[in-house]
Amino acid sequence: MNFKYYFFILLLLSIVLAQETEKSEIECSHAKSALSFITKQSIQSDSQNNYDVTFYDIDMKIDPSVKIIYGTVGVAGTIITDSTNQIDFDLSLALQVDAVKDEQGNDISFEHQSDLLSLFFYNDQLTIGKEFYFIIEYHGTPQSSGFGGFVFDNHNNDPMIWSLSEPYGARTWWPCKDTPLDKADSLDISLTVPLNLIAASNGLLVDTETDGDWTTYHWQERYPIATYLVSVAIHPYTVFYDWYKYSPSDSMRLEYYVFPDNYNNVKDNYLLTNDMIGAMAQRFSEYPFIKEKYGHAEFTWGGGMEHQTLSSMGGYSEGLIAHELAHQWWGDMVTCANFHHIWLNEGFATYSEALWYELRDNDIQSLHDEMSLNRVWSGGTIYVEDTTSVSRIFNWALTYNKASWVLHMLRHIVGDDDFFNGLREYGDRYRFKSAVTEQFQEVMEDISGMDLNYFFQRWIYGEFYPIYKVVYSQADSDLLIKLNQTQDSEVFEMPIDLRVNYHDGTNLDTVIHNTAKEEYFQIPVGNKTVTQIEIDPDNWILRWIESISLDTLENGGIIDDFILYPLYPNPFNSEVTIKFSIPKVAKVKIRIYDLEGDNIWSVTNNYNLGTHIVNWNGFDRHGNRVPSGTYLVEVSNDILVKSSKVLLLK
Ligand SMILES: [Zn+2]
Repeated sequence: MNFKYYFFILLLLSIVLAQETEKSEIECSHAKSALSFITKQSIQSDSQNNYDVTFYDIDMKIDPSVKIIYGTVGVAGTIITDSTNQIDFDLSLALQVDAVKDEQGNDISFEHQSDLLSLFFYNDQLTIGKEFYFIIEYHGTPQSSGFGGFVFDNHNNDPMIWSLSEPYGARTWWPCKDTPLDKADSLDISLTVPLNLIAASNGLLVDTETDGDWTTYHWQERYPIATYLVSVAIHPYTVFYDWYKYSPSDSMRLEYYVFPDNYNNVKDNYLLTNDMIGAMAQRFSEYPFIKEKYGHAEFTWGGGMEHQTLSSMGGYSEGLIAHELAHQWWGDMVTCANFHHIWLNEGFATYSEALWYELRDNDIQSLHDEMSLNRVWSGGTIYVEDTTSVSRIFNWALTYNKASWVLHMLRHIVGDDDFFNGLREYGDRYRFKSAVTEQFQEVMEDISGMDLNYFFQRWIYGEFYPIYKVVYSQADSDLLIKLNQTQDSEVFEMPIDLRVNYHDGTNLDTVIHNTAKEEYFQIPVGNKTVTQIEIDPDNWILRWIESISLDTLENGGIIDDFILYPLYPNPFNSEVTIKFSIPKVAKVKIRIYDLEGDNIWSVTNNYNLGTHIVNWNGFDRHGNRVPSGTYLVEVSNDILVKSSKVLLLK
């Protein structure tokens, strides 16, 4: 889903509230009012885990003159629990259930409450492996719109009927097991509409039949599909086609259902889709629904929605087209298993916009230009804790922009080959299924051979971004760098690109592996004179640089400085760890004093650049256990002394 326009419209609205009512305001009020209606969770009852859906057959008559739908939905599935006498489907209470029947036409007793339709089998336990087929007849006016629902709208005085079911809106217009974890293997959807209207939907149009004033459009989706990706888009559309040629002898039809008055505006951009599919197929693998179609159906919502094989479009910008197309792989082919992990859909689609610009221009600068627009500085995790909040699921900063940066950073860490091979492997392993973050991580680790846990844990489950403060100094043939992460939140362990610029105009590109909030690095530079250093010069990290400065006496003199970390554990019983880090080879003394000021223990050694650990076990220099109490730990080099207190408890 992409609703840049939606926010733009909201912004406009807040500025020009008093202006006359325009189309955009109507869209917006739809979107806002939707939130209050829907039961906002994927699985409402445990008994929905008792079966696996295999097939839906949706048959729906839609009458815009009275805004009523008359539906007959067949559901096929298999019992996957030992035994049950109840099967539950999600269905909005705004719809009236008229009958539930089995395949033979026998009535099945049911209850419909709290947006849940429960079927009961009092005399007939359903046992594991049993296949079922039920038919649910219902009618009513769907009470929903915007985020998740089914809308009777108008465009140019003609009916414009559309659905948008992500995340929990499918249940507002048809009975289903409304979770992306259980895709149906296939689906039929027949839409009967007044003669002048065209009804577009998922998959292939296999049949059109006119009976009096009504026409039925019979669509078939033969690839697995999640409930929220099933859609209708109905209007007296202007339709045009294009062909995506995916081999010397095969092509797939691209279908565009556009508002007649909008045809001249959108045509050129929509026709870019052909090249985009080719470009994305190169990066991701062939278009996933190649035996069916891809296309756009315009609708009156201010954004886009990646309905499987037919995205609904409220705009025609190149970015929006690329975004919804990329979702066909990331969202539709591989779907987030639940909305905690929605970034696997939206972060991927947002990054794919930048990937398209890179491929279109054959220039990586186009990627970086786009990604610079996606930088975010807000708190909150990419992982969605509260999936009952639809606005939290679709948080623009986190779910879209920051998540796109996760992929951007990952690409640089593992390298282009492993990144795109990893994407293809992820697509293969979870093709037509659902996935969570850890499954994507596992694929990227398998392909790259790297342990990426530090990266996913910090960026997906942690907040904020690193803020770097860097001081550097040249000591003979070494460049010394002290890097601090000054953000309040915990350390971001990251490989960081470092560019060293020399006096003679040449430079050195290298990578430092930053694992602590305060750390030294030593770079051999031979007989060159360093004039300046750059951190992450090509913008591969979502970071803020506080300062990069040449060492002076005022800021501490890093050559002579060292870091003494907090003593731990403190208090201690058997052993305390003294951890320090030095910027160059140095003689370091560690002394322990009691409260009388007597030096009771010491050690002196030459240490290399880096972080070192010395343990003190609470014995004095004569091998006697010292009493409980406070001791002073003092660490010094030739220039500086630093100390810290520790409490010994016996
Ligand atoms: Zn999206």
